[in-house]
Amino acid sequence: MVRNPKGMRDILPPETFKWRRLEILLSKVALLYGYGEIRTPILEFGELFRKGLGDESDVALKEMYEFVDKNGDVLSLRPEGTAPVARAVIQHHLYDVPVLRLFYTGPMFRRERPQAGRYRQFHQFGIEAFGVSEPYMDVEVLLVVKRIFDLLGLPLTIHINSLGCDECRPPYIEQLRNFVVESIPDDEEIERFKKNPLKLFDSKRPEHAQVKSDAPKILEYLCPTCRDHYAEVIKAARTFAIPIVEDPHLARGFDYYTRTVFEGYVGELNLAVVGGGRYDHLVSFYGGPDIPGIGFAIGLERLITSMQEVPKVDPEPKVSYFLATTGQDMIEPAFWLAESLRDHNAEVIMDLRQGKLQKQLKLADKVDARYALILGEEEQKNHAVTLRDMVTGEQRVIAQEAVLGE
Ligand code: AMP
Repeated sequence: MVRNPKGMRDILPPETFKWRRLEILLSKVALLYGYGEIRTPILEFGELFRKGLGDESDVALKEMYEFVDKNGDVLSLRPEGTAPVARAVIQHHLYDVPVLRLFYTGPMFRRERPQAGRYRQFHQFGIEAFGVSEPYMDVEVLLVVKRIFDLLGLPLTIHINSLGCDECRPPYIEQLRNFVVESIPDDEEIERFKKNPLKLFDSKRPEHAQVKSDAPKILEYLCPTCRDHYAEVIKAARTFAIPIVEDPHLARGFDYYTRTVFEGYVGELNLAVVGGGRYDHLVSFYGGPDIPGIGFAIGLERLITSMQEVPKVDPEPKVSYFLATTGQDMIEPAFWLAESLRDHNAEVIMDLRQGKLQKQLKLADKVDARYALILGEEEQKNHAVTLRDMVTGEQRVIAQEAVLGE
Protein backbone atom coordinates (compact mmCIF):
# COMPACT_ATOMS: atom_id res chain seq x y z
CA MET A 1 0.00 0.00 0.00
CA VAL A 2 1.22 3.54 -0.69
CA ARG A 3 1.52 6.01 2.18
CA ASN A 4 3.03 9.34 3.13
CA PRO A 5 6.43 9.76 4.84
CA LYS A 6 6.46 9.89 8.63
CA GLY A 7 5.81 13.32 10.15
CA MET A 8 4.40 14.70 6.89
CA ARG A 9 0.65 15.07 6.89
CA ASP A 10 -2.02 15.39 4.27
CA ILE A 11 -4.32 18.26 5.04
CA LEU A 12 -7.81 17.36 3.90
CA PRO A 13 -11.14 19.08 3.52
CA PRO A 14 -12.86 20.40 5.58
CA GLU A 15 -9.66 21.23 7.52
CA THR A 16 -8.20 22.90 4.44
CA PHE A 17 -11.05 25.40 4.70
CA LYS A 18 -9.68 26.50 8.07
CA TRP A 19 -6.16 26.76 6.62
CA ARG A 20 -7.31 28.97 3.80
CA ARG A 21 -9.09 31.33 6.16
CA LEU A 22 -6.13 31.38 8.52
CA GLU A 23 -3.70 32.25 5.72
CA ILE A 24 -5.95 35.10 4.60
CA LEU A 25 -6.19 36.43 8.15
CA LEU A 26 -2.43 36.26 8.68
CA SER A 27 -1.53 38.00 5.44
CA LYS A 28 -4.20 40.61 6.12
CA VAL A 29 -2.62 41.51 9.45
CA ALA A 30 0.82 41.72 7.80
CA LEU A 31 -0.64 44.06 5.15
CA LEU A 32 -2.07 46.35 7.85
CA TYR A 33 1.50 47.01 9.00
CA GLY A 34 2.87 47.51 5.49
CA TYR A 35 4.49 44.11 5.00
CA GLY A 36 4.86 42.89 1.41
CA GLU A 37 4.73 39.20 0.56
CA ILE A 38 7.88 37.31 -0.40
CA ARG A 39 8.05 33.73 -1.69
CA THR A 40 11.45 32.06 -1.61
CA PRO A 41 12.34 28.58 -2.95
CA ILE A 42 11.82 25.54 -0.76
CA LEU A 43 15.36 24.40 -1.61
CA GLU A 44 18.38 26.50 -0.73
CA PHE A 45 22.10 25.77 -0.54
CA GLY A 46 22.59 23.88 2.73
CA GLU A 47 25.40 26.22 3.64
CA LEU A 48 22.95 29.11 4.02
CA PHE A 49 21.38 27.45 7.05
CA ARG A 50 24.49 25.86 8.52
CA LYS A 51 26.25 29.21 8.53
CA GLY A 52 23.30 31.34 9.59
CA LEU A 53 21.68 29.16 12.26
CA GLY A 54 25.07 28.01 13.55
CA ASP A 55 26.80 24.66 13.02
CA GLU A 56 25.94 23.68 16.59
CA SER A 57 22.21 24.45 16.39
CA ASP A 58 20.05 21.32 16.62
CA VAL A 59 18.32 22.23 13.40
CA ALA A 60 21.53 22.53 11.36
CA LEU A 61 23.28 19.66 13.15
CA LYS A 62 20.62 16.98 13.19
CA GLU A 63 17.37 18.02 11.60
CA MET A 64 18.04 19.27 8.10
CA TYR A 65 16.96 17.37 5.04
CA GLU A 66 20.04 17.72 2.89
CA PHE A 67 21.12 16.00 -0.27
CA VAL A 68 23.76 16.26 -2.94
CA ASP A 69 22.26 17.31 -6.27
CA LYS A 70 23.36 15.61 -9.50
CA ASN A 71 25.84 18.43 -10.16
CA GLY A 72 27.39 18.13 -6.70
CA ASP A 73 25.56 21.06 -5.05
CA VAL A 74 24.52 20.43 -1.45
CA LEU A 75 20.87 21.48 -1.23
CA SER A 76 18.61 21.63 1.76
CA LEU A 77 14.86 21.72 2.31
CA ARG A 78 14.40 24.97 4.20
CA PRO A 79 14.02 24.41 7.95
CA GLU A 80 13.04 28.04 8.61
CA GLY A 81 12.27 31.27 6.79
CA THR A 82 14.57 34.00 8.07
CA ALA A 83 17.79 32.86 6.39
CA PRO A 84 16.19 32.58 2.91
CA VAL A 85 14.54 36.00 3.28
CA ALA A 86 17.85 37.59 4.34
CA ARG A 87 19.50 35.93 1.35
CA ALA A 88 16.85 37.29 -1.02
CA VAL A 89 17.14 40.79 0.47
CA ILE A 90 20.87 40.80 -0.27
CA GLN A 91 20.63 39.17 -3.67
CA HIS A 92 17.94 41.52 -4.99
CA HIS A 93 19.18 44.67 -3.20
CA LEU A 94 15.79 44.99 -1.54
CA TYR A 95 17.54 47.06 1.14
CA ASP A 96 17.40 50.02 -1.29
CA VAL A 97 14.19 50.64 0.61
CA PRO A 98 15.75 51.56 3.95
CA VAL A 99 12.90 50.24 6.07
CA LEU A 100 11.82 46.97 4.53
CA ARG A 101 8.96 44.81 5.75
CA LEU A 102 8.36 41.32 4.31
CA PHE A 103 6.12 38.38 5.18
CA TYR A 104 5.94 34.77 4.05
CA THR A 105 3.84 31.65 4.50
CA GLY A 106 4.84 28.11 3.57
CA PRO A 107 6.14 24.68 4.46
CA MET A 108 9.34 24.15 6.48
CA PHE A 109 11.13 20.86 7.05
CA ARG A 110 12.93 19.49 10.09
CA ARG A 111 13.75 15.85 10.71
CA GLU A 112 12.49 15.86 14.29
CA ARG A 113 10.92 12.96 16.16
CA PRO A 114 7.25 13.24 15.17
CA GLN A 115 4.83 13.72 18.08
CA ALA A 116 1.84 15.88 18.92
CA GLY A 117 2.52 19.39 17.60
CA ARG A 118 5.84 18.35 16.08
CA TYR A 119 6.02 17.40 12.44
CA ARG A 120 8.74 16.94 9.85
CA GLN A 121 6.89 19.09 7.36
CA PHE A 122 5.10 21.95 9.07
CA HIS A 123 4.00 25.42 8.03
CA GLN A 124 5.08 28.80 9.20
CA PHE A 125 3.81 32.30 8.70
CA GLY A 126 6.52 34.83 9.42
CA ILE A 127 7.43 38.48 9.11
CA GLU A 128 10.87 40.08 8.81
CA ALA A 129 11.60 43.80 9.15
CA PHE A 130 14.94 45.23 8.05
CA GLY A 131 16.68 48.53 8.62
CA VAL A 132 15.50 49.67 12.04
CA SER A 133 17.37 49.06 15.27
CA GLU A 134 15.17 51.29 17.45
CA PRO A 135 13.08 49.59 20.18
CA TYR A 136 9.78 50.70 18.64
CA MET A 137 10.45 48.34 15.75
CA ASP A 138 10.50 45.47 18.25
CA VAL A 139 7.24 46.77 19.69
CA GLU A 140 5.60 46.97 16.27
CA VAL A 141 6.60 43.36 15.60
CA LEU A 142 5.10 42.31 18.95
CA LEU A 143 1.93 44.22 18.08
CA VAL A 144 1.62 42.19 14.88
CA VAL A 145 1.77 39.02 16.99
CA LYS A 146 -0.77 40.42 19.45
CA ARG A 147 -3.19 41.48 16.72
CA ILE A 148 -3.10 38.00 15.15
CA PHE A 149 -3.87 36.22 18.41
CA ASP A 150 -6.51 38.80 19.36
CA LEU A 151 -8.26 38.30 16.03
CA LEU A 152 -8.13 34.55 16.51
CA GLY A 153 -9.43 34.92 20.06
CA LEU A 154 -6.49 32.93 21.47
CA PRO A 155 -5.02 33.74 24.90
CA LEU A 156 -1.36 34.54 24.32
CA THR A 157 1.61 34.90 26.65
CA ILE A 158 4.90 36.13 25.21
CA HIS A 159 8.13 35.23 26.99
CA ILE A 160 10.75 37.85 26.29
CA ASN A 161 14.46 38.29 26.94
CA SER A 162 17.52 40.03 25.53
CA LEU A 163 20.57 38.17 24.25
CA GLY A 164 22.73 41.29 24.13
CA CYS A 165 25.08 42.15 21.29
CA ASP A 166 28.53 41.14 20.02
CA GLU A 167 30.04 43.24 22.77
CA CYS A 168 28.23 42.05 25.89
CA ARG A 169 27.22 38.52 24.94
CA PRO A 170 30.68 36.86 24.65
CA PRO A 171 31.78 37.72 28.22
CA TYR A 172 28.42 36.46 29.50
CA ILE A 173 28.73 33.20 27.54
CA GLU A 174 32.20 32.72 29.05
CA GLN A 175 30.81 33.15 32.57
CA LEU A 176 27.96 30.79 31.83
CA ARG A 177 30.38 28.22 30.39
CA ASN A 178 32.51 28.32 33.56
CA PHE A 179 29.40 28.01 35.68
CA VAL A 180 28.10 25.04 33.66
CA VAL A 181 31.44 23.22 33.87
CA GLU A 182 31.51 23.69 37.65
CA SER A 183 27.87 22.80 38.26
CA ILE A 184 27.14 19.86 35.98
CA PRO A 185 28.92 16.51 36.28
CA ASP A 186 30.76 15.16 33.27
CA ASP A 187 28.32 13.24 31.13
CA GLU A 188 27.40 13.17 27.49
CA GLU A 189 25.59 16.51 27.74
CA ILE A 190 28.43 18.52 29.16
CA GLU A 191 30.25 18.65 25.82
CA ARG A 192 27.15 20.08 24.20
CA PHE A 193 26.78 22.67 26.95
CA LYS A 194 30.45 23.59 26.73
CA LYS A 195 30.11 24.30 23.03
CA ASN A 196 26.95 26.33 23.51
CA PRO A 197 26.22 26.98 27.19
CA LEU A 198 22.87 28.65 26.35
CA LYS A 199 21.64 25.09 25.64
CA LEU A 200 21.47 24.63 29.40
CA PHE A 201 18.28 26.69 29.39
CA ASP A 202 16.60 24.33 26.90
CA SER A 203 17.35 21.30 29.07
CA LYS A 204 14.22 19.54 30.32
CA ARG A 205 16.14 17.27 32.72
CA PRO A 206 14.83 17.67 36.27
CA GLU A 207 18.35 17.56 37.74
CA HIS A 208 19.19 20.68 35.72
CA ALA A 209 16.32 22.75 37.14
CA GLN A 210 18.27 24.06 40.11
CA VAL A 211 21.39 24.67 38.00
CA LYS A 212 19.29 26.69 35.58
CA SER A 213 17.85 28.88 38.27
CA ASP A 214 21.29 29.46 39.86
CA ALA A 215 22.94 30.25 36.51
CA PRO A 216 24.13 33.80 35.78
CA LYS A 217 21.47 35.87 34.00
CA ILE A 218 22.31 37.67 30.78
CA LEU A 219 20.35 40.80 31.73
CA GLU A 220 22.97 41.50 34.40
CA TYR A 221 25.69 41.44 31.74
CA LEU A 222 24.08 43.67 29.10
CA CYS A 223 26.04 46.72 27.96
CA PRO A 224 24.31 50.08 28.58
CA THR A 225 23.02 50.30 24.99
CA CYS A 226 21.47 46.82 25.09
CA ARG A 227 20.11 47.45 28.58
CA ASP A 228 18.38 50.64 27.42
CA HIS A 229 17.04 48.94 24.33
CA TYR A 230 15.57 46.12 26.42
CA ALA A 231 14.10 48.50 29.01
CA GLU A 232 12.41 50.57 26.30
CA VAL A 233 10.94 47.52 24.61
CA ILE A 234 9.54 46.23 27.91
CA LYS A 235 8.11 49.62 28.86
CA ALA A 236 6.44 50.25 25.51
CA ALA A 237 5.19 46.66 25.28
CA ARG A 238 3.43 47.14 28.63
CA THR A 239 2.01 50.49 27.48
CA PHE A 240 0.42 48.75 24.51
CA ALA A 241 -0.90 45.85 26.60
CA ILE A 242 1.25 43.24 24.88
CA PRO A 243 1.03 40.16 27.13
CA ILE A 244 4.73 39.79 27.94
CA VAL A 245 6.51 37.93 30.71
CA GLU A 246 10.20 38.56 31.22
CA ASP A 247 12.05 35.25 30.98
CA PRO A 248 15.79 35.38 31.74
CA HIS A 249 16.16 31.77 30.54
CA LEU A 250 14.87 32.33 27.06
CA ALA A 251 17.73 31.72 24.64
CA ARG A 252 16.18 30.48 21.32
CA GLY A 253 17.92 27.91 19.18
CA PHE A 254 19.71 29.83 16.45
CA ASP A 255 23.03 31.67 16.50
CA TYR A 256 21.82 34.68 14.54
CA TYR A 257 19.78 36.25 17.34
CA THR A 258 20.86 39.48 19.06
CA ARG A 259 19.09 41.59 21.69
CA THR A 260 15.32 40.99 21.83
CA VAL A 261 14.16 37.37 21.62
CA PHE A 262 10.67 36.07 22.34
CA GLU A 263 8.43 33.02 22.27
CA GLY A 264 4.65 32.94 22.48
CA TYR A 265 2.45 30.34 24.17
CA VAL A 266 -1.29 29.81 23.97
CA GLY A 267 -3.17 28.90 27.13
CA GLU A 268 -1.81 25.88 28.95
CA LEU A 269 -0.13 24.36 25.89
CA ASN A 270 3.56 24.03 26.69
CA LEU A 271 4.78 24.09 23.11
CA ALA A 272 5.59 27.53 21.71
CA VAL A 273 3.36 28.64 18.83
CA VAL A 274 5.52 31.60 17.86
CA GLY A 275 9.22 32.36 18.09
CA GLY A 276 11.21 35.37 17.04
CA GLY A 277 13.73 38.04 17.73
CA ARG A 278 16.34 40.46 16.44
CA TYR A 279 19.15 39.43 14.13
CA ASP A 280 21.13 42.63 13.71
CA HIS A 281 24.19 41.02 12.13
CA LEU A 282 22.68 38.32 9.93
CA VAL A 283 22.58 40.38 6.74
CA SER A 284 26.19 41.57 7.09
CA PHE A 285 27.23 38.05 8.11
CA TYR A 286 25.92 36.83 4.75
CA GLY A 287 27.97 39.49 2.97
CA GLY A 288 25.24 42.12 2.70
CA PRO A 289 25.27 45.65 4.11
CA ASP A 290 25.24 46.23 7.84
CA ILE A 291 21.48 46.43 8.41
CA PRO A 292 19.58 45.20 11.43
CA GLY A 293 16.57 42.90 11.27
CA ILE A 294 13.82 41.47 13.43
CA GLY A 295 11.03 38.99 12.86
CA PHE A 296 9.03 36.02 14.05
CA ALA A 297 7.51 32.81 12.79
CA ILE A 298 4.24 31.22 13.86
CA GLY A 299 3.71 27.47 13.52
CA LEU A 300 0.39 27.05 11.75
CA GLU A 301 -0.30 23.45 12.83
CA ARG A 302 -0.08 24.52 16.46
CA LEU A 303 -2.45 27.44 15.79
CA ILE A 304 -4.98 25.38 13.89
CA THR A 305 -5.18 22.68 16.55
CA SER A 306 -5.83 25.24 19.26
CA MET A 307 -8.96 26.60 17.60
CA GLN A 308 -12.38 25.48 16.44
CA GLU A 309 -13.08 28.09 13.81
CA VAL A 310 -11.08 30.77 12.03
CA PRO A 311 -12.84 34.14 11.68
CA LYS A 312 -13.43 35.52 8.23
CA VAL A 313 -11.71 38.84 7.49
CA ASP A 314 -11.60 41.28 4.62
CA PRO A 315 -8.53 40.14 2.65
CA GLU A 316 -7.17 43.63 1.99
CA PRO A 317 -6.93 46.92 3.89
CA LYS A 318 -9.30 49.67 2.78
CA VAL A 319 -6.78 52.52 2.60
CA SER A 320 -3.11 52.95 3.13
CA TYR A 321 -1.24 55.67 4.99
CA PHE A 322 2.32 56.52 5.74
CA LEU A 323 2.42 57.91 9.28
CA ALA A 324 5.28 60.32 10.00
CA THR A 325 6.08 62.00 13.30
CA THR A 326 7.98 65.11 14.32
CA GLY A 327 9.92 64.75 17.52
CA GLN A 328 10.79 61.72 19.66
CA ASP A 329 7.84 62.11 22.00
CA MET A 330 5.35 61.68 19.19
CA ILE A 331 6.16 58.02 18.63
CA GLU A 332 3.89 56.75 21.38
CA PRO A 333 0.80 58.78 20.40
CA ALA A 334 1.54 57.89 16.77
CA PHE A 335 1.48 54.21 17.70
CA TRP A 336 -1.92 54.64 19.34
CA LEU A 337 -3.23 56.40 16.24
CA ALA A 338 -1.70 53.76 13.96
CA GLU A 339 -3.25 50.95 15.98
CA SER A 340 -6.70 52.58 15.86
CA LEU A 341 -6.39 53.09 12.12
CA ARG A 342 -5.49 49.42 11.71
CA ASP A 343 -8.53 48.53 13.85
CA HIS A 344 -10.48 50.45 11.19
CA ASN A 345 -8.97 48.35 8.41
CA ALA A 346 -6.32 50.85 7.23
CA GLU A 347 -2.74 49.97 6.35
CA VAL A 348 -0.29 52.16 8.28
CA ILE A 349 3.42 52.24 7.49
CA MET A 350 5.89 54.00 9.77
CA ASP A 351 9.59 54.73 9.45
CA LEU A 352 10.55 54.15 13.11
CA ARG A 353 14.18 55.17 12.65
CA GLN A 354 13.13 58.37 14.41
CA GLY A 355 14.83 60.61 11.86
CA LYS A 356 13.82 64.02 10.53
CA LEU A 357 10.43 64.51 8.90
CA GLN A 358 11.99 64.95 5.44
CA LYS A 359 13.75 61.61 5.76
CA GLN A 360 10.51 59.91 6.77
CA LEU A 361 8.67 61.44 3.81
CA LYS A 362 11.41 60.16 1.51
CA LEU A 363 10.55 56.68 2.71
CA ALA A 364 6.87 57.46 2.09
CA ASP A 365 7.87 58.12 -1.54
CA LYS A 366 9.94 54.92 -1.73
CA VAL A 367 7.02 52.81 -0.56
CA ASP A 368 4.66 54.67 -2.93
CA ALA A 369 2.36 55.86 -0.19
CA ARG A 370 -0.71 57.66 -1.53
CA TYR A 371 -1.31 59.67 1.62
CA ALA A 372 0.96 60.66 4.45
CA LEU A 373 -0.23 61.53 7.92
CA ILE A 374 2.01 63.82 9.94
CA LEU A 375 1.72 63.92 13.70
CA GLY A 376 3.52 66.68 15.57
CA GLU A 377 3.05 68.15 19.02
CA GLU A 378 0.69 70.87 17.77
CA GLU A 379 -1.56 68.35 16.00
CA GLN A 380 -1.54 65.96 18.94
CA LYS A 381 -2.58 68.74 21.33
CA ASN A 382 -5.64 69.29 19.14
CA HIS A 383 -6.34 65.59 18.49
CA ALA A 384 -5.62 66.38 14.87
CA VAL A 385 -3.21 65.20 12.21
CA THR A 386 -1.88 66.66 8.97
CA LEU A 387 -3.05 64.75 5.91
CA ARG A 388 -0.81 65.12 2.88
CA ASP A 389 -1.62 64.00 -0.63
CA MET A 390 1.66 62.49 -1.79
CA VAL A 391 0.80 63.02 -5.46
CA THR A 392 -0.28 66.68 -5.41
CA GLY A 393 1.67 67.68 -2.29
CA GLU A 394 -1.47 69.36 -0.90
CA GLN A 395 -1.94 69.13 2.81
CA ARG A 396 -4.55 69.99 5.39
CA VAL A 397 -5.03 69.50 9.09
CA ILE A 398 -7.94 67.27 10.04
CA ALA A 399 -9.27 65.73 13.23
CA GLN A 400 -7.91 62.28 14.06
CA GLU A 401 -11.51 61.11 14.43
CA ALA A 402 -12.15 62.18 10.84
CA VAL A 403 -9.26 60.03 9.52
CA LEU A 404 -10.64 57.07 11.42
CA GLY A 405 -14.02 57.67 9.85
CA GLU A 406 -12.78 58.18 6.28
P1 AMP B 1 11.40 28.20 15.42
O1 AMP B 1 11.73 28.55 14.00
O2 AMP B 1 12.06 26.95 15.90
O3 AMP B 1 11.52 29.33 16.35
O4 AMP B 1 9.85 27.84 15.42
C1 AMP B 1 8.85 28.80 15.29
C2 AMP B 1 7.53 28.11 15.41
O5 AMP B 1 7.38 27.14 14.39
C3 AMP B 1 7.35 27.32 16.69
O6 AMP B 1 6.92 28.13 17.74
C4 AMP B 1 6.31 26.31 16.28
O7 AMP B 1 5.02 26.85 16.34
C5 AMP B 1 6.65 26.02 14.86
N1 AMP B 1 7.45 24.79 14.73
C6 AMP B 1 8.78 24.65 14.83
N2 AMP B 1 9.15 23.38 14.64
C7 AMP B 1 8.01 22.68 14.41
C8 AMP B 1 7.70 21.31 14.11
N3 AMP B 1 8.65 20.40 13.99
N4 AMP B 1 6.40 20.96 13.93
C9 AMP B 1 5.42 21.88 14.03
N5 AMP B 1 5.65 23.18 14.29
C10 AMP B 1 6.91 23.58 14.46
